[in-house]
Amino acid sequence: KKYSKEDVLKLANEYGVEYVHLQFSDIFGVMKNVSIPVEELNKALNNEIMFDGSSIDGFVRIEESDMYLRPDPDTFVIFPWRTNSGVEARLICDIYNYDGTPFEGDPRYVLKRNLEEAKKLGYQFNVGPECEFYLFLTDEKGNFTTVTQDNASYFDMAPVDLGESARKEMVSTLKQLGFQIEASHHEVGPGQHEIDFKYDDALTTADNVMTFKMVVRIIAQKHGLHATFMPKPVFGIAGSGMHMNMSLTKDGKNAFYDPSDPLGLSKVCYNYIGGIIKHAKAMTAITNPIVNSYKRLVSGYEAPVNIAWSARNRSPLIRIPAKRGESTRIELRSPDPTSNPYLALAVALAAGLDGIKNNITPPPPVNANIYHMNKEELESLGIERLPGSLEEALNELEKDEVIKKALGNHVYTKFLEAKRAEWDEYKIYVTQWELDQYLSKF
Ligand code: ADP
Ligand code: MG
Ligand code: MG
Ligand code: MG
Ligand code: MG
Repeated sequence: KKYSKEDVLKLANEYGVEYVHLQFSDIFGVMKNVSIPVEELNKALNNEIMFDGSSIDGFVRIEESDMYLRPDPDTFVIFPWRTNSGVEARLICDIYNYDGTPFEGDPRYVLKRNLEEAKKLGYQFNVGPECEFYLFLTDEKGNFTTVTQDNASYFDMAPVDLGESARKEMVSTLKQLGFQIEASHHEVGPGQHEIDFKYDDALTTADNVMTFKMVVRIIAQKHGLHATFMPKPVFGIAGSGMHMNMSLTKDGKNAFYDPSDPLGLSKVCYNYIGGIIKHAKAMTAITNPIVNSYKRLVSGYEAPVNIAWSARNRSPLIRIPAKRGESTRIELRSPDPTSNPYLALAVALAAGLDGIKNNITPPPPVNANIYHMNKEELESLGIERLPGSLEEALNELEKDEVIKKALGNHVYTKFLEAKRAEWDEYKIYVTQWELDQYLSKF
């Protein structure tokens, strides 16, 4: 515990905070806000602030719409930027029903519930995300484009573009908000960037991802740019992912490390990998939740296509970074930044824990480049593919009891319903590709 209620009130007073944003996430990972003047802060910290849950996508019907926000004092930060309303701060909240029980449809609660399962087995779940995004120009009318003025490529040092200075300010703003930035660099695509912050316990990391996206968007806008976390904004160039680096600790020690193993990995780690591989297809519906996500999961751009793991290369679903000891971790490479971080971490943990509880042995690692393998080679190694579309992923989700249970009935049902509708709408749309291919030919 970082702050008590009293600490928060004292800090708000000391820094002259005038407005406090009470933040929470809907099931799609979109941040919602209830803003209160600082005079209401005490009431908020006593869990007395109500909001209309029926106004939030995927929450509840009107008849049961009175819900309470319970701010988590540890998430208190003062925004380093100033607006017309003076100094502003925020608190991330849990959502409770009118009767005082936690709301099953609150993604933060879903993650907490799964973290409890890990805790029962003695584990803490640690995650470090790598968030990629594009910075695009807006046109004269302020509309978003997919144009970038940047010709810099991977790790380019020259400050050739607006993006570079925007990213610098993002980093310094994140630092002021308490983030420990480990790296920030230009990515492979023109206008594509990555900012990495230090891993933390999964709940803090999920909160951090929400804050991170907010900061990136706000600062981009300040520089006249549009930041997008869309997985594949432009055909033919690298997509944006959100690799999740994961480890478990037990009694403060890394539980994935075993110096006596040839690869330096523990049985717990192998079982965790086994669980992820077993549930990979269903998890994908959550880690890659939009139609566009599947345009990133294709060969040739370092995004995974096949369900395999490797300690060597960057083409499979799971890579084991070289570091051992306390840094021993596995990197899940499928998630993209449109996933709800609370739900993505919840399902990844549930899959891994299923592997541990049921002693699931993973298939052997694949150290050759799987992008270069043909269908027969993949089949002979028993390597399956990730779902190729949102529809396939949803079909897999429907079949996986472990992942359904991890989400809980409310989130599972609402998510599936909304995503089926999204797919059905996309399915009947006539795309530019089809017109280019067929209009003149037939
Ligand atoms: P990559 O080599 O894939 O580009 P990065 O250096 O960009 O990796 O990011 C690595 C991420 O892994 C960082 O967020 C880092 O804090 C995190 N990380 C390091 N050690 C651990 C650990 N033991 N458990 C979980 N995450 C970790
Ligand atoms: Mg990286
Ligand atoms: Mg890196
Ligand atoms: Mg990257
Ligand atoms: Mg990575």
